[in-house]
Amino acid sequence: MDTSPTRLLIHGASGRMGQALIRLAAEQPAGYQVVAAVTRRAPSPRVVDGVPYFAASELAGVPVFDVAVDFSLPDGFDPILALCVERGTPLVSGTTGISDRQMAALAHAGARIPLVWATNFSLGVAVLTDLVERAAAALPGWDVDIVESHHVHKKDAPSGTALTLGEAAGSAGAQVHYASLRAGDIVGEHAVQFTGLGERIELVHRATHRDVFARGALHVASKLAGRPAGNYRVRDLLD
Ligand code: NAD
Repeated sequence: MDTSPTRLLIHGASGRMGQALIRLAAEQPAGYQVVAAVTRRAPSPRVVDGVPYFAASELAGVPVFDVAVDFSLPDGFDPILALCVERGTPLVSGTTGISDRQMAALAHAGARIPLVWATNFSLGVAVLTDLVERAAAALPGWDVDIVESHHVHKKDAPSGTALTLGEAAGSAGAQVHYASLRAGDIVGEHAVQFTGLGERIELVHRATHRDVFARGALHVASKLAGRPAGNYRVRDLLD
């Protein structure tokens, strides 16, 4: 059995998620080694705490890696997907706000490489999604509203997680309405409200620390290495 650490490329490395990924990977040196940290602009210094940084324009020249973990922005998504397909390496992406064309490219790439794209890497949201699907199926005709709250720096709205929850409710035919709040440093809250005549159910998930997403993404990255090509879900790789 190969016990060497999983060699990671972190794409979006200077961001809030990228920095959490690098810190958590460093806490588990037997499990992970960050061999390339990629940011939009050329960084200075080039090496920080033993991690080599590269600009997005240098992506083609990064060293060999086992898995790429991408938490960047939609305009960074095409180049990292193309690099992974070219090198035949797995991709874990949590970048939200990607277009329909980019979603189609993801589905297509699943025939070539193992990959996971998910709007949320927390176990709690995986369970919430399942609960929403079941509640929507049991409550036909009820109004379904999703209220999501995030920090003021978040660019896309509704959040990718809200859209995933909406799809789960919509699979039972519900028309879903969304509301987005951007305030302070909220890590991520999703409330799914089912309203009937004279009664209401609220299912709520609150993330209090972004490490929950980074930890989930690292776990998925270690599970994806060595798998056959395909589009995997987080829940396929939890064990
Ligand atoms: P951030 O703005 O703090 O960081 C973005 C990073 O992307 C920066 O390092 C920036 O240099 C890099 N970047 C931007 N454009 C790039 C490009 N063209 N090429 C390469 N790198 C580029 O954002 P964040 O809060 O860290 O979030 C990053 C992404 O992850 C967002 O899409 C966010 O919605 C998403 N997110 C997903 C989850 C999840 O569980 N799926 C959780 C949190 C955040």
